[in-house]
Amino acid sequence: MKIKSAEFVVSNSDVAKCPKSSLPEYAFIGRSNVGKSSLINMLTGRKSLAKTSGKPGKTQLINHFLINKNWHLVDLPGYGYARVSKSTKKVFQKFITEYFAQREQLVTAFVLVDIRHKPQPIDLEFMQWMGEHGIPFSIIFTKADKLKPKAIENHIAEYKTVMLEFWEDMPNYFVTSASKSIGKDDVLDYIEGLN
Ligand code: GDP
Repeated sequence: MKIKSAEFVVSNSDVAKCPKSSLPEYAFIGRSNVGKSSLINMLTGRKSLAKTSGKPGKTQLINHFLINKNWHLVDLPGYGYARVSKSTKKVFQKFITEYFAQREQLVTAFVLVDIRHKPQPIDLEFMQWMGEHGIPFSIIFTKADKLKPKAIENHIAEYKTVMLEFWEDMPNYFVTSASKSIGKDDVLDYIEGLN
């Protein structure tokens, strides 16, 4: 899929205020600092559509972007950062939960995972929660430029082993790098196939 237009629509922390439109939407979520903003900018070909920041936990809103005037890309808040208070974490959890419960337009989510790290409990728990609630998702491994191909293979194999303890199959996954523009067409063509 070619991205012809990408426009910011609205940011909010209230699911009821998300766009009323019934356009299909695709949500991106992951640990803070996983490279989500960079990935969104790579996918859309816009340098600063999503705000990248060195400060974990800064994007704490649900951000809707209208792509090619016919689908929404949704940037969800990062989870799992240490620097916010417990009560703030609870508020995020509540609206993330509400987002997934209420957005019938959601076609699938993409859970971002830093390819360099071993499977982390927080990501595994989140995917478990998605599975239990019947929310379809794919995994997007980020920052693939940081590892050699063999190490990427090993990390994915390790992920598969852990996932298969809980799941019948390894979820669909993509290997990406925003720095080297790897995996862009794979993700966009997948979305096009579902749209
Ligand atoms: P977010 O908090 O998940 O939105 O993450 P950002 O997109 O702001 O990125 C967090 C940090 O990771 C920044 O320092 C980025 O420059 C870096 N980063 C993001 N994507 C990549 C990538 O594909 N490769 C490399 N090497 N670094 C990346």
